[in-house]
Amino acid sequence: MIAFSKLTIIVIANYLRVSINFSARCNTQTATTFLRHSTSPLTASTILEPRMRHLSPSKYIKTAKYALRDYVAGDYRYPFYCSFKIIQRCDSSCEFCNVWLKPAPDMPTSKILKIIDNVADSSVLVLSLEGGEPLMRKDIGEILQYIRTKPLYVLFTSSGKLFEKRPMKDYCRYIDFLHPSIDEGHDNLDLYESLPEFVSWGSIVCVQIVVMKEYLPDLEQKIRKCYNAGAKALVMPACLLPGTPDFLPEVTAFRNEVMRLKRKYPRTITTTDKYLRALTWLHGCTSASIIIDYDGRLFYPCRTLMGKTIDLSEQSLMGFLDSKEADQCRERMRKCEINCHWYQYFATDSYVSLGNTVSSLTPYLTDFF
Ligand code: SF4
Repeated sequence: MIAFSKLTIIVIANYLRVSINFSARCNTQTATTFLRHSTSPLTASTILEPRMRHLSPSKYIKTAKYALRDYVAGDYRYPFYCSFKIIQRCDSSCEFCNVWLKPAPDMPTSKILKIIDNVADSSVLVLSLEGGEPLMRKDIGEILQYIRTKPLYVLFTSSGKLFEKRPMKDYCRYIDFLHPSIDEGHDNLDLYESLPEFVSWGSIVCVQIVVMKEYLPDLEQKIRKCYNAGAKALVMPACLLPGTPDFLPEVTAFRNEVMRLKRKYPRTITTTDKYLRALTWLHGCTSASIIIDYDGRLFYPCRTLMGKTIDLSEQSLMGFLDSKEADQCRERMRKCEINCHWYQYFATDSYVSLGNTVSSLTPYLTDFF
């Protein structure tokens, strides 16, 4: 059953925390005016806001209205989570990933900011910056600074290999959720020792761990390090992508181990129970989230099917979602039998689902309230 209880809880919780500074924080600055007026470097002295922003009340209400419309229609037309692949270059070459195999030139900054405007004006509440490696973009500070002017929570995924070469403490003032990917595939396990430092930067830190089948027995030591450092962990199996070998762990063994660790290390693992259950369902994905590719085009209904649609620097996201073409894409998703286990498509609805509210929200209780 489609519901929006969790989103509603977050909306109400944040609404109650609203301060009179809201309107000053969330203005309607456009990409054009930002580019014209913003030339200052990213420094701590230019930043006045706390890391967990309270977005404008109108944004929460808008997103809740779309969630209600989806609930009534029994659909996932309006996403509240968006991944934006802002770069197709990477400093890693993970065997389970295919991004680094096809590097491409970076999108101009102006195009990225236009797309951010488009997303900010939609039902989306959380914008995830991904790649490739986002820290390889020279304008990443400018992009983060720009999103700060928008009613969006920012999630930032990185291999962490460039952390010591970038002003991460300053960047984290603009990042709500910092997701370093630390696992065997990224070949950066030494970064677990630096987790306490990452946590000290102020963002909510959640280590993304992609589990390849041979490394399932090593998962607990990683979770323990997250737990001891006060970080969270998002545990995902290595999905089978076009052009990559099969590293997918045996799904029942994976689920049992993650469930065991969730009980042993409370409020640490954010992988949702619904996702773990869906690993053995015939169908479990939804369009509650979307992915934008490095060229600005929207994957729809999903990235696995490689269906690329509109250029979001030119066309309205909300206009597309209401179109007949988008309806057909969602129908294609409903009928898909691939069961690719892509975390984003199989888990995001947990955050608006009545039956999964408590388990999905628990790791974040102390951060939201
Ligand atoms: S199961 Fe099919 S529709 Fe769903 S995310 Fe995977 S490939 Fe896409």
